[in-house]
Amino acid sequence: MTRPMRLSRRAVLGASGAALLAGCLPQGITAFDTDGLPPDLRPTSNAGYEAWVQSFKARARAQGITQATLDAAFNGTGYLPGVVARDRNQAEFTRSLEDYFALVASEAKVTAGRAAFTNQTRLLSRIELRFGTSPDVVAAIWGVESEFGARRGDIPVISAVSTLAFDGRRGAFFEAQLLAALRILQQGHTTPDRLIGSWAGAMGHTQFIPTSFDAYAIDFDGDGRKDIWGTDPTDALASTAAYLAQAGNWRRGLGLGAEVILPDGYSGPSGRGTWRAVADWQARGIRPAADLPELGEAALLRPAGNGGPAFLVSRNFEAVMRYNASESYVLGVLYMAGRLRGTGPLVGRFPPDEWGLLIEDRIALQEGLARQGFDVGRPDGVIGTKTTEAIRAYQTRAGLPVTGTPSRALVQALGG
Ligand code: CA
Repeated sequence: MTRPMRLSRRAVLGASGAALLAGCLPQGITAFDTDGLPPDLRPTSNAGYEAWVQSFKARARAQGITQATLDAAFNGTGYLPGVVARDRNQAEFTRSLEDYFALVASEAKVTAGRAAFTNQTRLLSRIELRFGTSPDVVAAIWGVESEFGARRGDIPVISAVSTLAFDGRRGAFFEAQLLAALRILQQGHTTPDRLIGSWAGAMGHTQFIPTSFDAYAIDFDGDGRKDIWGTDPTDALASTAAYLAQAGNWRRGLGLGAEVILPDGYSGPSGRGTWRAVADWQARGIRPAADLPELGEAALLRPAGNGGPAFLVSRNFEAVMRYNASESYVLGVLYMAGRLRGTGPLVGRFPPDEWGLLIEDRIALQEGLARQGFDVGRPDGVIGTKTTEAIRAYQTRAGLPVTGTPSRALVQALGG
């Protein structure tokens, strides 16, 4: 069985909040054009919140935020009930590594990513010169966080993080984000209408939270502003490299890792912390699935257990863990980085899921449901809400017990 992995609350520990998990919306709507947002992400009257904002403003003034900044920042903002709902859902959220790869590094995203990677070759090389970071890894983080800038988030950050600070489940954390967001405005890096991001306040091309912006963002194009929100990714990608170099102690000249093939019946060491020279792993019969970047000492990871894909990772794996403390996230970055370098899909296969199905079985199930007229979205082998609802509808129509779960019998009934 593929082990379900909890993906971390990236807003808590890392720089970032990935678009995929943080529920970003397609960009292109200005912050206060709230008609473009779902109703639950439009400011809603809430007396408790209004009172909290008044008390917060006094604390912000004591921290050096001016009245003029506060007036401009809070103009048109308000309580967003949908942000609290998303925060609650996130706590329950688990996804298998196989599903995560299918979502963040689908073939369509790889194709888009290769074009974006090519377009930014010169910029990524200049960034590498200064910070030592691998171009493919910085670009892969860009891809996983915002689909190479396509999904940077549309939710007004002041409204989102003030709602979460008031809500209080992680009140101190989000009050710190709110203060950092106000400093961004006070320093003139952007304007209130452009200060937008995910529901959790992660902003721009690589989804920096405001306190990470405070600590690591840089003005790489030299125009006097640190701009991670606009269409040009220069400052955002350089800020990500600065984060990896400074917070993550990124080791210049080393890649992140690569997929490897284990000899049949391999039962040797694996796991974070199994640091050995690459030559030692090779002496155990382990060989690269495709290319193998320079790794220095490497650890062997088998995230789906016996029979699943395996990876050798460098000490820089820990640097990206600082960006987002989820092993699935960093493996997603590793995989996307390889695809950007030109390697193919994974060679290793994920073992059967909790229903005994492989990804091609799940895709066949989705295609069968689609042929029967049920909406499953794009058949990608990921069993989400749409597929679950489609199975229920099919089972209801066919007079079967309504479980909403995939099975071998359903695949056969709907197949071909
Ligand atoms: Ca700039």
